[in-house]
Formats: sequence, C-alpha cells, structure tokens
Amino acid sequence: MLDSPIEYLKGVGPQRADLLKKELNIFTFRDLLELFPYRHVDKTRVNLIRDLMPGMDYVQVAVKILRFSLLGEGRAKRLVAQVADSTGTMELAWFQGISWIQKNLVEGQSYLVYGRLGFFNQMPQIVHPETEPWTPEKKEGREFLEPVYPATEKLKTRNLGGRQLAKLTHALLAQIHEKDVQENLPDSILSKLQLMSRYQAFRQIHFPSSNVQYSAAVRRLKLEELFLAQLRMNLLRSKRHRFSKGVVFDKVGEQFNTFYKKYLPFDLTGAQKRVLREIRNDSGSGKQMNRLLQGDVGSGKTIVALLTMLLAVDNGYQACLMAPTEILAKQHFATISSLLKEMPVNVELLTGSTKTSARKKLAKSLAEGNLEILIGTHAVIEEAVQFQRLGMVIIDEQHRFGVAQRARLWEKAEIPPHILVMTATPIPRTLAMTAYGDLDYSVIDELPPGRQPITTVHRFETQRSFVMNFLQAEIDKGRQAYIIFPLIEESDKLDYENLYRGYETVKTYFPEPKYWISMVHGRQPADQKEQNMQRFVTGDTQIMVSTTVIEVGVNVPNASVMVIESSEKFGLSQLHQLRGRVGRGAEKSYCVLLTGSKLGNDARERIKIMTSTSNGFEIAEKDLELRGPGDIEGTRQSGMLSFKLANIVEDRPLIEEAKAAVAELLENDPDLVSAENLRLKSFLQQQKGKMAWSKIS
Ligand code: ADP
Ligand code: MG
Repeated sequence: MLDSPIEYLKGVGPQRADLLKKELNIFTFRDLLELFPYRHVDKTRVNLIRDLMPGMDYVQVAVKILRFSLLGEGRAKRLVAQVADSTGTMELAWFQGISWIQKNLVEGQSYLVYGRLGFFNQMPQIVHPETEPWTPEKKEGREFLEPVYPATEKLKTRNLGGRQLAKLTHALLAQIHEKDVQENLPDSILSKLQLMSRYQAFRQIHFPSSNVQYSAAVRRLKLEELFLAQLRMNLLRSKRHRFSKGVVFDKVGEQFNTFYKKYLPFDLTGAQKRVLREIRNDSGSGKQMNRLLQGDVGSGKTIVALLTMLLAVDNGYQACLMAPTEILAKQHFATISSLLKEMPVNVELLTGSTKTSARKKLAKSLAEGNLEILIGTHAVIEEAVQFQRLGMVIIDEQHRFGVAQRARLWEKAEIPPHILVMTATPIPRTLAMTAYGDLDYSVIDELPPGRQPITTVHRFETQRSFVMNFLQAEIDKGRQAYIIFPLIEESDKLDYENLYRGYETVKTYFPEPKYWISMVHGRQPADQKEQNMQRFVTGDTQIMVSTTVIEVGVNVPNASVMVIESSEKFGLSQLHQLRGRVGRGAEKSYCVLLTGSKLGNDARERIKIMTSTSNGFEIAEKDLELRGPGDIEGTRQSGMLSFKLANIVEDRPLIEEAKAAVAELLENDPDLVSAENLRLKSFLQQQKGKMAWSKIS
C-alpha cells in the first residue's frame, strides 16, 4: 500500500506526479507520508483587520474584495486588491500570476485570506496570499490544525504549494490504516519512553487533534530516528568487536622503549599518555582497532602516531602513515625520520611524485619486510604497493579520506591492520557519537605546556594600512606571516581575481628585494605550489599569500602572524583550522581577522567567538549551533546525520534518551533475537540498502 506510485493517489495524476518527483523526490505514498509539515496553521482563528499589528507574522482574515487596481510598470507591475471586513480595510498584492488571480477572484465576493502580514504606507498588506472562497456560515472553520509543507517556488506557481499538498496528505491519510504503518519499536521501549504508536504518530504529525498530540507525535518520530541510528551504530561496533580478528600487539618492545627513554624530545602530556594506553589496549586485544583520534591543532598527534607505529614494529609488523597532501606527507616524513635518525628503524616516503626507480626499490623492501614505516599520500594505497606484514595504518586529517579509500587498506592484509584515524577538526561529542558511532573514540584534550596563547583581533578593511604596518614590524623582527584569502569555490574566477589583486596590494606594502612573497593556491601545478611552499618553510620568503590550501597540518614555527582577508566569508571551523598555522613556535603569535564594514549577525557572532576563545571543542560546539550538523566538515560525507526530524543541537536530551534505551536493549538482547525485538530487527533489515550509510560497514 505505501509502496504505491504517487500518481495513484486521488488528486495527483501524471502531471502533478512528475512535479512531486522532480521537486520533492516523492515517488510513492510512503514518500508523501514522510514529508512532514514544517508548521501548522490554526485556521479556526480569524483575525480582525483592526487588530493587525506589525510583528504578527502569518495572519488570516475573512474579507470582501472591494476593488482591484493594476499598478506600476515592468518589474514593479502589480495587482492590488482593496479588501475589508467590518473593522477596517487592507490590501492584498500580487506581482506574479496576475491574470490567474484576475480570472479567479471576483470583486464583491468574500474570501478567507492567509499569508504573511506586512505594512505598506502604514496599511496592512499581504503579498501573494492564499485565498479561498468564504461565506459567513463557514466561520466555525476547521476541526484540526492544518499542515503546511515545504514547497518549492516551482510547486507554488503550479498551484501545488504548501497548503495544496495538505489536501493530498489528507487524502492519503484517509486511505491508510493501522496495518499499513507497522510498529517498529519494541513494546518495552514504547512504554518506557511513553511513545505513541507509529501509526498514530504519522496521523498526528500531519493532522494533529491538538498541540499536545502534535508534540507527542514529533517526539515519537524523532526518538525513533535517533534510536535507530544509535542502534545501527552500536550493532556495527559490537559486531566488529566480537567478530573481527585483529593482529595482536602483545608487547611493548625495544624500539618503543628506547625511543621513549632516549629520543623523546619532551614529556608527553597526560592526554597523550592516556590515548597511547587506549591504543595499546585495543591493539593488544586480538580485535581489530578502528579508532578515531581527535586532537586540536597543535595538541601533538604526530608523536602519538610515531609511538603507535613503533609499537607495531616491536611486534613484528609494518606501519604506514597517510596524509592528505604531499606537503603534509613530506613534513611528517621529515619530522619522523629526524626523530628516528639514531634508531635502527627504516622510514621511507612515498608520494605521487616519487620517481619510478625509487618506487621500485621501495616496493621491494616493503614486500620483503625490510621497510618498517612508510609515510605518504594516498599513493600508499595504490594497487602496486604491497606490504609484507602491515599491522597499523594511521590516517592523518581523516576527512580528506573517503570511506572507500579506507576500505582499500583493509584489503592489504589477510588480517586487517589496526586503523587510527586522526583529525584536528574537532567534532562535538554528541555529533561524534552519532556520526562516528561505529568507531572507538579518543581525544587529546590538552595542549603541550608552555604554549603562548594566540592573540586574535578583529579589524575592518578600512584599517588595512595599520594592519600592514603591524605586519611589517613583526617581519622586521624576523618573523613570517600568512595572508589568507577566501576561496569559496575552487572554480570561482572572481575569487582568483581577488587573490591576485590582493597579492599585488601586498606587494606594494612589501616591495622586493627587501621582502619576498610566496603565493600558493589550488590552481597552481603541484610542483609550483610545492616550490612556493618550500620557500616559505625555509624562510626564503617572509610572506605567504594563500588560499585555504594551507589549511591543514602545515608547520612553520617561525610564522607568527596570520591575516585572514574577508574573514566573514569563512566558517568557524575553517577559521580555527587556519589560525592553528600560527602559534606553533616560541614567539608570541597574532591572528588578525579582517572584514568589510557590514557584517551579518552570524558573521559577527563567528568573529566574536574567534576573538574570545581558542578552544577547538568550544568552537566546534558553537559552529554546530550556528550552522547545524549538515555543514560540519567530515560529517556530511558520512551521510549519517541526515535526520528528517531530529536536530542534533536542539534535541540533545532526546539523543541521551535514545542512547540509554539502546544501551539497555542491547544489554538484554545483543543480537535482537527475542520475540519482542523481532519487528525491530526485521525493520532494520528492510531499511538496509536504502540508506547511504549502510554501505559504510
Ligand atoms: P597536531 O596535533 O596538530 O598534529 P603536532 O603533532 O604537529 O600537532 O604537534 C605540534 C607541536 O607540538 C610540535 O612541534 C610538537 O613537537 C610539539 N609537541 C607535541 N607534543 C608535545 C609535548 N608533550 N610537549 C611539548 N611539545 C609537544
Ligand atoms: Mg598534525
């Protein structure tokens, strides 16, 4: 029944069906049932014109049309109707569909009119109202709250707007019975969380009999979504814990200990030690480790990666570390090979630009097991690269690696290697739990001691010359500086023009030969980019003008100033990531956020947050609040957060409820075999394959 094609619904037909498919992705009865209204209109209430006040938002009036007039020319052309009830007069206005209105609305007739209230020359006005014929006898209105659905502009102009959709859902619900919408949650959960039945919830969310019923329906459906998402994640993880075989690292051996005692350049922070213990426990358990390590920029993930790889080496396995870019891979290679230079551990670098002859040599020693640690870009997961005994894979800056790429690593060994995914993009806990619920999770929530906080300030573009003077003073002290330009779309010509113009401007402040400038952006050939970057790393240039390509990982400790141009165009996480490029050395560091003089509320809020905190987790929480989960980097691809109703920010209490319920359920019945849980199990099985994320396991 619910799988019936939408064209079979009364009132739809082939043309409307086409529209519904194209505009709203509605193909079946079920799709329509699951299109939830975003609000309801209380059509039982009719406002009197004399009561209309600015700020009332949507209103409904019962009025008679006194007369029409056609005003204006061209784009300003509009049809205006003078209308009145017994308490006053107001106007209705149309800019589009004028001839349809002239044909269908009649002077002297009464209409029930609904829409957003505005005021024009102090006269109440509704633009593009919804109208329907009205007679005083109809005054009692409807018995329910009428749903309004999200409709596209196209649907609205084809007379299939939010309220016409309501007629369709009404027709649909009239045909649906309890057996068509089967319960999927077990009774124990329903009674424990006091949830209405699934069938009732669908009825009440569309056509609630009261506000209380509506809220109960929304709660039920949100909890269902959260519960199911949580349950799937838990099942995946526990399946992995129970059934996956992992290589066993059962000892901490010579390499680890020697390095730790003799070559570790600093004491580990408490958080670094804790994470290492977690990794040791995992990798010694005989199960495959699949762990997400989150640590703010500069929190010291690299050393954790190195010690983890030494653990693998001590147990007779090879390890590899993958970075998202060549620059980063090289930097890791430089850091790690210098740390290990007195140790009998072989480390090599493999990137896209490794020469064929070197590649061959490398492949040989890898296959023979003489090479213990391989560092590289995604080149390391190419077909030709074969390890003898790969036991540990570390992926730095996870969000640049797709799930498919991760899967290819699994295939590189008979027993899958342990996987540690490291990311500096802080993800709020609630989100991590939901988005990465199938991974185990570690956090480095402590920065190494002695870091000088970065001073972040906001300046308007009109103050540019002051900012440049400051920059000059710092550079003359021997420091280096980044100047970052926004690049919203990699392909946007305008952005590049801005960048080049910006570069020219910087040049006028910092002329050669006293100053040298590197410029790096995504359109440069890789070797040119690399060369420009390298000149900055070695200190040959004092200024790096760049787009966000330097966002991740790059480490130039002498760079102590960052200026971010048009910073109102960046998201919070991105600003935070960028800022993390400075404050990496001993010098006092600064970040200057330049903006235009006009700032929207959100932009102002972002700037305020950036100037008041440097805590990545705090920033991530704010980012989530401002943008919602859909845009948080690293989660969109996961496809796990596309809830229809639930909102990860606003519904945290529900998330907690769902989480607790799942935990209890699985504790009692980990495989969902009890009679009561069968419908849940079969529902999950039906859903499988329909969801993008089910491919992830
Ligand atoms: P990220 O987590 O951003 O990858 P890195 O691993 O690059 O951070 O570390 C940032 C800097 O902090 C490096 O210069 C590193 O040597 C230093 N560092 C890491 N751990 C410690 C520590 N426990 N004590 C002092 N300095 C540390
Ligand atoms: Mg790093």
